[in-house]
Amino acid sequence: HFRCRSAFKLLEINDRFKIIRPGDTVIDCGAAPGSWSQVAARAINKKDGNKKDGMKGSQTRQNDRDGMVIGVDLQEVEPIEGVLMFSGHDFTLPDTQHKILNTLDNMYANVVLSDMAPSASGNKAFDHERISKLCLSVLKFSSQVLANDGHVVCKLWDGSERKDLLKVMERMFRTVKVIKPDASRSDSAEIFLLGMEFYLRK
Ligand code: SAM
Repeated sequence: HFRCRSAFKLLEINDRFKIIRPGDTVIDCGAAPGSWSQVAARAINKKDGNKKDGMKGSQTRQNDRDGMVIGVDLQEVEPIEGVLMFSGHDFTLPDTQHKILNTLDNMYANVVLSDMAPSASGNKAFDHERISKLCLSVLKFSSQVLANDGHVVCKLWDGSERKDLLKVMERMFRTVKVIKPDASRSDSAEIFLLGMEFYLRK
């Protein structure tokens, strides 16, 4: 029931690294058609209606609050239960980021996901440069919105900028990894940068 096969990449990453937990607030950049948001909504337990009151005294809650998933994409996204979607929005624009910040309403996010990619031109170096800019924009925004110990998963088409992106991430996260999920094998240049345990915030 996932909207596309990309779902399995995030499921695999989340299985291995336990990025998204019940009660988390997750931002999904480049969300269309919506399968990562579906996975995230499920992982925070939003869909099961595990609201705070219903979970009182339970040992399974990781956070003492309700989670939420906020998605953003240039494209239209069909509604997903438990997901607040900014369709038709360019993530890199300040206006879009303000809208997300307003929605967070002074809360920090636990996880920022980005599966964003520009439409490929076929010129590898050019496409790499453009997706690297998206990654940088995701990292910059993450440093504003992430809670202590928060995580980032960011798609990159591999190339020369990888080193610098990892350097930026090493200043933000206790653990930084480059991963290639099995579900991503057919996409040759695609890798995911994983930043775990954000530590900049005091
Ligand atoms: N993770 C999604 C899923 O599982 O359904 C698939 C995402 S798809 C590979 C990449 C998406 O990034 C496209 O829908 C594209 O519109 C979006 N995108 C690219 N640049 C963007 C930008 N500047 N702002 C918002 N979305 C962007």
